[in-house]
Amino acid sequence: MDRKGMLMVLSGPSGVGKDAVRVEFLRECATIESSVSATTRAKRPGEVDGVDYIFLTQEAFGGMIEEGKFLEHTLYNGNYYGTPRPFVEDQLRSGRDVLLKIEVQGALNVKKFFPEAILVFMVPPTMETLWQRLVGRGTGTHEDCVNRFKLAYREMCYADQYDYVVVNDKLPDTIRDLCAIYKAECCRRERNIALCNQLMTEEVL
Ligand code: 5GP
Repeated sequence: MDRKGMLMVLSGPSGVGKDAVRVEFLRECATIESSVSATTRAKRPGEVDGVDYIFLTQEAFGGMIEEGKFLEHTLYNGNYYGTPRPFVEDQLRSGRDVLLKIEVQGALNVKKFFPEAILVFMVPPTMETLWQRLVGRGTGTHEDCVNRFKLAYREMCYADQYDYVVVNDKLPDTIRDLCAIYKAECCRRERNIALCNQLMTEEVL
């Protein structure tokens, strides 16, 4: 049965909790795989090359852009980030679903090339919570936190271009909402019409 994989894109301001949500969501929904992005930003303590990101120099990143190896790429808060093309295309071609955790410009670019992609925007319950989470994770300087927090207001202007908005307050509730979205999207008529057509050709009696 020919089934093209589904592309699900998760965005939201820095500090909203996308990483924790991604890990838990992948654990709950075993039929979707996550793409690992490339970045030129410095590795944070505990991050693993090839798992959290593919960490590249500016030169290596530029080389990949020239070779057309990115599905999309962007400059965010002074660093480059990009989605490697081969993994995503291979997965989708083989009928497997893919999760991208990327910022808004990247998400909107993906939507241009894959109009059937599902765009989910994650927001904090309050902006005060977002600020506390940004500072609380202790991974950036005060200036970096302020820049990311200011960016959050601009990023939120794009929420109206997404298909779904999920509030990340309590992690189990967020995972429940994301799984519901994913499962409902898997059952969309457009994605299953080939199955219906095949069933109609099966002669049993
Ligand atoms: P961070 O530095 O906090 O890991 O990521 C900064 C922002 O870049 C986050 O919003 C994250 O989702 C986004 N990001 C991560 N990988 C990619 C990517 O491949 N493409 C784009 N456009 N954004 C990305």
